[in-house]
Amino acid sequence: MSFDLASRLAERHAAHLFRLRPLLESPQGPEVVVDGKPLLAFCSNDYLGLASHPEVIRALQQGADRWGVGGGASHLVIGHSTPHHALEEALAEFTGRPRALLFSTGYMANLAAVTALVGQGDTVLEDRINHASLLDAGLLSGARFSRYLHNDARSLASRLDKASGNTLVVTDGVFSMDGDLADLPALCAAARQKDAWMMVDDAHGFGPLGASGGGIVEHFGLGLDDVQVLVGTLGKGFGTAGAFVAGSEELIETLIQFARPYIYTTSQPPALACATLKSLELLRREGWRREHLQRLIARFRQGASEIGLQLLDSPTPIQPILIGDSQRAMQLSALLRQRGILVGAIRPPTVPAGSARLRVTLSAAHSEAQLERLLQALAECWPLLAPEVNDA
Ligand SMILES: *Cc1c(COP(=O)(O)O)cnc(C)c1O
Repeated sequence: MSFDLASRLAERHAAHLFRLRPLLESPQGPEVVVDGKPLLAFCSNDYLGLASHPEVIRALQQGADRWGVGGGASHLVIGHSTPHHALEEALAEFTGRPRALLFSTGYMANLAAVTALVGQGDTVLEDRINHASLLDAGLLSGARFSRYLHNDARSLASRLDKASGNTLVVTDGVFSMDGDLADLPALCAAARQKDAWMMVDDAHGFGPLGASGGGIVEHFGLGLDDVQVLVGTLGKGFGTAGAFVAGSEELIETLIQFARPYIYTTSQPPALACATLKSLELLRREGWRREHLQRLIARFRQGASEIGLQLLDSPTPIQPILIGDSQRAMQLSALLRQRGILVGAIRPPTVPAGSARLRVTLSAAHSEAQLERLLQALAECWPLLAPEVNDA
């Protein structure tokens, strides 16, 4: 007996689901070099254009000069340094929560928060299309795990009726593959009625959403009583890396004491925290980035609908073009690439079967002229796409 990896890989090829990693040979930004070719990219999550910002780069360099490179140990041993602590305090102030806790990745922050809060005898209720890290966290927790219909407060309410033990409701703030907003006012109200806690992972909302970039909770004006567990990631709108959980004093202390993905890992490099402190300052202060992004979003939606493309109900920089069939999504992506434009095709299992799409993302770093190039290329490529074969 042996592991038959070759046939698993062959099956994935045959289903048009084989993944390749484009090799990025330049810094992140609208104009990139990928696999040796200059391309105009519309697929990063660097929504505010901070990933290669000169001031953020300088903060990282100066941070390394002052604090060295490696974190050296876990936070509980001797890896919790002054820049980490300063960033936590700044994030708490930014989110209007009593405390925030820094993590190395969003994946780990989600595993940590869910598994520290619920276990056997408890219930975790999640949106069907939540990010994989939230779904994995729910499964790992050992709590009774159930998924409600996408963004449907009624579906949530009927599951809340059957819940037992401590109950945690978990949702993306901005849905990562669709770009729509969680209906938090309704979802939070349903949770509150049953004394359930609400956990929101706003990886894609911090930066683009809210008057000062405070994400979906700022957008809807929701406080600690509505959203007890607020997660943000730093690798998207912030342009750096890592993540945080913000909430009450007791929540954060519970994570420090009990969350295994917090305890058993080395702290992120302190210089990275220095860089994030700078990007947080830019994210809050430079409102023009959000305003420019809003103009790009509006123009993209108008131009795309004139071409006849099917968009989703998204007010965010995530603007997927729904295709359906994985092969056709790949084909459209390839046609765009021939014209110097990079947009990734997102296929199952990342999205539900039959809903392959091009996930267009816009950034404040894109110019209006660059956006027109994308629309022009889409107008040329869309009619060239092979007609849909209905083999479902
Ligand atoms: C990207 C993402 C994560 C993971 O964050 P990383 O810091 O990249 O590990 C978690 N949740 C959502 C909704 C995301 O989009």
